[in-house]
Amino acid sequence: AGPSGPEGAYDGLRIRALTKSFGSYTAVRSLDLDIPRGSFFALLGPSGCGKTTTLRMVAGLEQPTSGTITLAGEDITRTKPYRRPVNTVFQSYALFPHLDVAENVAFGLKRRKVKDVDAQVEAMLALVELETQATKKPAQLSGGQQQRVALARALINRPEVLLLDEPLGALDLKLRRSMQIEVKRIQTEVGLTFVHVTHDQEEAMTMADTVAVMNGGVVEQMGAPSELYENPRSTFVANFLGQSNLIEGTVRHRDADLVTVDMQGVTVSVPAHRVHTDGDRGWVGIRPEKVLIGEVGAELDAPGNTVPGGVITDVSFVGVSTQYLVRMPWGQELQVFAQNTGRQRMFAHGEQVELSWRPEYAFLLDALQDAA
Ligand code: ATP
Repeated sequence: AGPSGPEGAYDGLRIRALTKSFGSYTAVRSLDLDIPRGSFFALLGPSGCGKTTTLRMVAGLEQPTSGTITLAGEDITRTKPYRRPVNTVFQSYALFPHLDVAENVAFGLKRRKVKDVDAQVEAMLALVELETQATKKPAQLSGGQQQRVALARALINRPEVLLLDEPLGALDLKLRRSMQIEVKRIQTEVGLTFVHVTHDQEEAMTMADTVAVMNGGVVEQMGAPSELYENPRSTFVANFLGQSNLIEGTVRHRDADLVTVDMQGVTVSVPAHRVHTDGDRGWVGIRPEKVLIGEVGAELDAPGNTVPGGVITDVSFVGVSTQYLVRMPWGQELQVFAQNTGRQRMFAHGEQVELSWRPEYAFLLDALQDAA
C-alpha cells in the first residue's frame, strides 16, 4: 500500500464496474481499471468510445451511473471535484488571458493563500522550461508554450493524479511529437500518475507505460505498448494500433506453442496463446514491416513461413521505407513495408514476388471477432 492508503489498500487509481449511461445510451460499460501510482497511463480509442466520459468521472465532472472510483484506497466516487487530489489539463488551455505566465501558474496557490509562491512558480517554470517567459501574456506564446503553462498550472497544485484530455490535440504534427516527449519527461521528473486520453495511437504508444484500448465503452485490451502491438487480441486492436495484414485461415493442428494454420491453401505456423482446436476459423495477423519480400525462389533469410505467388500492385517510396501492395493468389492485397537500408533492391509494379515471415512475428485472432 502507498503512504496515504489504508493498510493493504491498492495505492493507485482503481476503477470498478464503472458505468455511465446518458438516457438509454451507455457510454461507459462496467469498466475495471487499475492504474498504478506514478505510472503514465493512456486511454486510447476512436471518437465516441467513452474515454472522455471516463476521465470526467475520475475528475468528478460527471457522476457515474454505477460503479466506484478509489484513489489510494479512498473512495472518491461521490467526492466533489475540487476536493479530489486530481487536476485536469484540457486541449483548450483555458489560461487567463489578462494574467502573465507566472501569475497563471501561481493562481491556484494564491487562491489557497499558500506561502512561498514565487519559489514554487519558479521551480514549475523551470520544470516546463519557460523560465524566460514568465512575464509574457498567453497570447504572446506559441501553442506548445501555452500548453506547458497549463501543465505547470495544474502540477503546482501537487495533485496525486493529473488527467490530460487530448492536451496536444490543437498542436501541429511536428510540435505535437516534440511535446509528447516533453510531457513524458515532465511525468518522469515529477513521478505523479498521469492519465492521458487520446485517439492517436502513436501518441499513446510514445508516451504511456500502459495503454488501455477502448471501443464501444469497454476496454478491449490493456498492456505495454509493445505488448499490444506485438500481440493484439482482437482485429480491432490489431487495426487500431498500426497496420496489420489479416488473412483468414483454419487451424489444422497444434504443438506445444505453435499452431499450424491452413491460410488460403498455404500452411503457416503461428504462436499459440490459448487452446485452439482443429477446424477453428481464425485470422492470421502479420505486421507489414515484419514481412520480407523477395524474388520468386529467393531464399529469404527467414526460417519461416513462405507464401508464393504474389504480384506487386503498388509501390510507394516514403523515405524510411518502401511500401508495397502485393496481390496474393487468393485475391487479397497484403501490405509490405521494406526498410530502406540503401542496400536492398526495389521491386517494380507487376513483378512476381514471394513473401516470408518468421512464425513468432505472426499472431492468431479468433474468427468470432469482426472481420477486418
Ligand atoms: P472523443 O474523442 O470524440 O471525445 P470519447 O471517446 O472521448 O470521444 P466520450 O466523449 O466519452 O467519447 O463520449 C462517449 C459517448 O457518449 C458518445 O457517443 C457521446 O455522444 C456520448 N455522450 C457524451 N457525453 C454525453 C452527454 N452529456 N449526453 C449525452 N451523450 C453523451
